[in-house]
Amino acid sequence: MVAAVSLANVHKVYNNTCVVNDLSLTIEPGEIFGLLGPNGAGKSTTIRMLTTLAQQTQGDIVVAGYDVRLQAAQVRSEIGVVLQQVSVDMDMTVWENMEFHGRMHHIPAAKRQADIRRWLDYMGLSDRTSDKVKTLSGGLKRRLQIARALLHNPSILFLDEPTVGLDPQTRRRLWEIIRELNKSQGMTMLLTTHYMEEVEYLCDRIGIMDQGKLIESGTLQELHQKHGKGIVMKQKGDRWDYLFFPTLSEANQYLDAQPDKTGMMTRPANLEDIFVELTGRNLD
Ligand code: ADP
Repeated sequence: MVAAVSLANVHKVYNNTCVVNDLSLTIEPGEIFGLLGPNGAGKSTTIRMLTTLAQQTQGDIVVAGYDVRLQAAQVRSEIGVVLQQVSVDMDMTVWENMEFHGRMHHIPAAKRQADIRRWLDYMGLSDRTSDKVKTLSGGLKRRLQIARALLHNPSILFLDEPTVGLDPQTRRRLWEIIRELNKSQGMTMLLTTHYMEEVEYLCDRIGIMDQGKLIESGTLQELHQKHGKGIVMKQKGDRWDYLFFPTLSEANQYLDAQPDKTGMMTRPANLEDIFVELTGRNLD
């Protein structure tokens, strides 16, 4: 099977600084892949290169079987893109935004009308079609962005920080929509985030990025197998030391065996712990 997305030794240099550094990665059709990393890690730049909005300085990128540099138009017809900044037109109505996008993609009128109706309905926006976008809440704007990104029937959806700035309830609703889209349409998805819960909830595989480099990748299960599922935390002055254990019960056994348990506790390990272990820093 041809990979949905493949990057081979990709570099992006801005002003003599390598912001994406030797990134190699393959995403299979139907996968939800999450790129997790702190601000400035190079996640958005990676998405911009994958979606033909920026060109790599070096390396090869193939999306839906097309070379992003040589076959940009074909790539664009195969992908849907939801960027961080809300890119819908605030002074147009919900319907007009969809209509405009549909025309840009040369979707014939009858199909365009039917698909706009279908996606607005799917995203729960049917009762807002005549409203100007500026009157929608942040969550509904994001849903409109997704509806619009899906209108030309892409096989791969790119989502750059899809839930940043949304309240927890709206975020969870969007997660459900994303997961449902993946399951019902078999759509490949690449999303970037700095919320570990987001990748834990949504992603089949995870890549952890830091300072332009992919420092770890695999399924959540694989990452836990490699780094540990249980943690003993030890307070040392104003900071914590972390000890990883293969399981939480082994972490508990270790704690039980300590003569002095002051300032010590155990808990399940999460992705943030793995990030801290790899980089010595927090995700935020
Ligand atoms: P992330 O999405 O992980 O927060 P970005 O890809 O936005 O990271 O940024 C990675 C680095 O590249 C940052 O240091 C940022 O300042 C820099 N960068 C991003 N876009 C540009 C640009 N157009 N020109 C110069 N530097 C940029």
